[in-house]
Amino acid sequence: MIKLAVEHATQRKQFKTRIADFEMIREKISEMTAHTYVLESMVYMTAGLVDKKVDYSLEGACCKVWGTELLWKTINEALQISGGNGFMNEYPYGRGLRDSRINMIFEGTNEILRLFIALTGMKEAGDVLKDFQGALSHPVSQYGVLKGHAQKWMRGTVTSYKLDKVHPSLAPEADQAAKYAAVLRNACETMVYRNRKNVVNRQYLLHRIADVVMDLYAQIATLSRVTAAIEKKGEEKAKPEIEIVRWFAFQARHRMVANLKALDRHKDAEATAISEAAYEAGGYPFDLWGW
Ligand SMILES: Cc1cc2nc3c(=O)[nH]c(=O)nc-3n(C[C@H](O)[C@H](O)[C@H](O)COP(=O)(O)OP(=O)(O)OC[C@H]3O[C@@H](n4cnc5c(N)ncnc54)[C@H](O)[C@@H]3O)c2cc1C
Repeated sequence: MIKLAVEHATQRKQFKTRIADFEMIREKISEMTAHTYVLESMVYMTAGLVDKKVDYSLEGACCKVWGTELLWKTINEALQISGGNGFMNEYPYGRGLRDSRINMIFEGTNEILRLFIALTGMKEAGDVLKDFQGALSHPVSQYGVLKGHAQKWMRGTVTSYKLDKVHPSLAPEADQAAKYAAVLRNACETMVYRNRKNVVNRQYLLHRIADVVMDLYAQIATLSRVTAAIEKKGEEKAKPEIEIVRWFAFQARHRMVANLKALDRHKDAEATAISEAAYEAGGYPFDLWGW
């Protein structure tokens, strides 16, 4: 799809200019390319865990959710770049979109996997339900258990991926990932403390936590891959990859800050009320022509 999008963007002219040179098109191409690099890094790192025969369920879930949504977005943007042609059945985009859609539904829907990612993020990866349920049945006395799990998981995540081995030129991005892992850990602790057993039902919040976990894993995997690229080729030749990790870390920081802030400051009650209005009306409740 990236190949098709690049071919079309560099050949098609509008306003006497290659559409490839318009910044809104560049934005799409750079995002498709950089995010594909990030996804490859996540899958590669996860494959390493499979080879090591350690538990990779959390990382696998991150790859599935992130990868299936990226595929959908990439095909959608490739279709958009090809304009009216993209809508026609003679071109592969429509079929690509339809075929890629199922990936967000089967092999664990992305909603269920986000719950898994967030709840695993609140305790140590592995033996997910047993200890968690045990702790939640005595939430106050067991709070220490959950707190320990959360800390162990996040600390384990950061240290086991050897953020300290990241190339010195990427230190700011590595520090950022470690910082937000710590912020996430505290946010998880606070959520469990405030919600006790009900934490499993706080899906607005769990959605945000899952997205932060995925952004963190994506950054860690990409830092690892770019470090390897620098060590192999040198900084000059690895420059395009360094640009990807810097660009991605910048974008991810914005998303993480927004998601973490929205754990406390949100309009979730309003969202619930709006959905209730739709449920009560049996559809769209504000039909302009309905009276
Ligand atoms: C082409 C195709 C091939 C398939 N192949 C297989 C196969 O080989 N093996 C197999 O076992 N299955 C297969 N399936 C089934 C597939 O795994 C299920 O469709 C999928 O798991 C979703 O289940 P469901 O359709 O019952 O939807 P539901 O479970 O009813 O879900 C409907 C929606 O509600 C959401 N939802 C459900 N529960 C929650 C919750 N607790 N919190 C938040 N949101 C929730 C879901 O995420 C989804 O968006 C296939 C399906 C298709 C279409």
